[in-house]
Amino acid sequence: MPSGNFMHIEIDIHTHTIASGHAYSTLAENVAAAASRGIKLLALTEHGPAMPGGPHVWFFANMRVIPRLMNGVGILRGIEANIINLTGEIDIDRAMQQQLDIVLASLHETVLAPTTKSKHTKAVVKAMASGLIDVFAHGGNPAFPVDVDEIALAAAAYKVLVEINNSSFTTSRPGSAKNCAALAEAVARHNGNLIFGSDAHIACNVGRFDECRALIEEIGIPKDTVISSSCNRLLTFLSERHKTNLRELFEALK
Ligand SMILES: [Zn+2]
Ligand SMILES: [Zn+2]
Repeated sequence: MPSGNFMHIEIDIHTHTIASGHAYSTLAENVAAAASRGIKLLALTEHGPAMPGGPHVWFFANMRVIPRLMNGVGILRGIEANIINLTGEIDIDRAMQQQLDIVLASLHETVLAPTTKSKHTKAVVKAMASGLIDVFAHGGNPAFPVDVDEIALAAAAYKVLVEINNSSFTTSRPGSAKNCAALAEAVARHNGNLIFGSDAHIACNVGRFDECRALIEEIGIPKDTVISSSCNRLLTFLSERHKTNLRELFEALK
């Protein structure tokens, strides 16, 4: 693979604001940071209601008040839902999933106690099979080991994107790097798709993907496996799975 700027990243799929209770910037500050980094599409993905300190479900129900474009940046109204049990249920229902543009889902120790690799894997596969989630986020967390081939096969079968999370290499979930590499390789091997998320909890980290880029280049993942460089590709994917109207974003970002 060529080194350096091998792809232009247009999308940040995973960001938090003060609404999450343990993040430090506003939406306007995150948008300004995204614009300054050349991000065209920013997903606002606060923690789901099961996360201590997270926003009430009404926060998500009212996201339609957020403009489609802020400071020239397209906004996706999303959530980082919690996988709340070992049967793979998440903390929003189908009606809410349909109202949002994008649903990430992840495992957090504060919501679900870690158990065995096989049980984590089954929970994630069931969440993917439910059709409620678009992205499996920070799957390299060593607190929740998973079978990367089973996850990658399910992701390809149920058309769920697998996130490579920049914060997992810097401020969160120490020890993730090796697992993230194995997961990314498995997704490429089974013809799935990856997407980058900053998981920024402060504006200065929005749109920062240095570690994600380094990982992808180091292990030689094919460029097309990562869809972070195409707003159109992501919007097409999401418009097939949600009832929200993304036309304004398609037109502004084509
Ligand atoms: Zn998370
Ligand atoms: Zn997050």
